[in-house]
Amino acid sequence: MDLGSIKGIAAERKTSDGRNVSAEFSPALDLVLNALEQMRDRGGKLPRASRVSLTQLHRPILVEPAPRQASVDKGSLLAPIQARVAVCVKCPHLAASRTQTVFGVGNPDAELMFIGEAPGADEDARGEPFVGRAGQLLTKIIAAMGFTRADVYIANVLKCRPDMPRGSSGNRPPTPEEMQTCLPYLAEQIDIIQPKVLVALGATAVEGLLGTRGTMRELRGRWHSHHETPLMITYHPSYLLRNQAPSEKRKVWEDMLLVLERLEKPISEKQRNYFR
Ligand code: URA
Repeated sequence: MDLGSIKGIAAERKTSDGRNVSAEFSPALDLVLNALEQMRDRGGKLPRASRVSLTQLHRPILVEPAPRQASVDKGSLLAPIQARVAVCVKCPHLAASRTQTVFGVGNPDAELMFIGEAPGADEDARGEPFVGRAGQLLTKIIAAMGFTRADVYIANVLKCRPDMPRGSSGNRPPTPEEMQTCLPYLAEQIDIIQPKVLVALGATAVEGLLGTRGTMRELRGRWHSHHETPLMITYHPSYLLRNQAPSEKRKVWEDMLLVLERLEKPISEKQRNYFR
């Protein structure tokens, strides 16, 4: 076989995944062919090749499949933000009054992310969002959807408990300034987690995510969008604690059914009929 034929074979050869060998390995091939040409021109003996090895030249070269891109470890991307939040003193009055910051909890790879308002007394004590009475109700809603708290991600607009006058036990909503100061942390969390669906629990979460205040009656039950992520708006669980009517539970549940449909999760007949 002459050098021209070898060049021809090389030009036509494919790798096992269909790529052209000469394009892939042309620098190496050129070196070999140049060396062979020089040997021939000097009148040297060209290496001999058996018929078997020449036939093998026609076979596709087996290549390992390209390694799949390593998946991003979202947990380790969240950790430094959590560390910044833990020492945040941007709202000095909240930094002074809090027991600890409440960053977020759940699966960093979650498809579904719930956003609440701010930690209350229980969350401030535990360092975890939604662990008080409203939180226990949210946990039940999550379970009714077929998830656990570890499947989803839960965070708040504010990472500190809004301070209260000495001796008073209740909670207060965050001020617009507190929200503006703290929102960049939530934006970073959402950016990393990139859930398929966001759920805003109550008016403060809506204001944080959409920058608008509307009545829950007109906002809930339909799809909105937060930077192209589908956003469902529903009542805060504490609203359901105050309004125990089955009709109100059903409204929240209908919002969650829309979420399940959007996530393409199976919905049983029993689930469809909850609170009817
Ligand atoms: N309410 C909220 O909005 N967030 C919590 O973490 C607890 C109660």
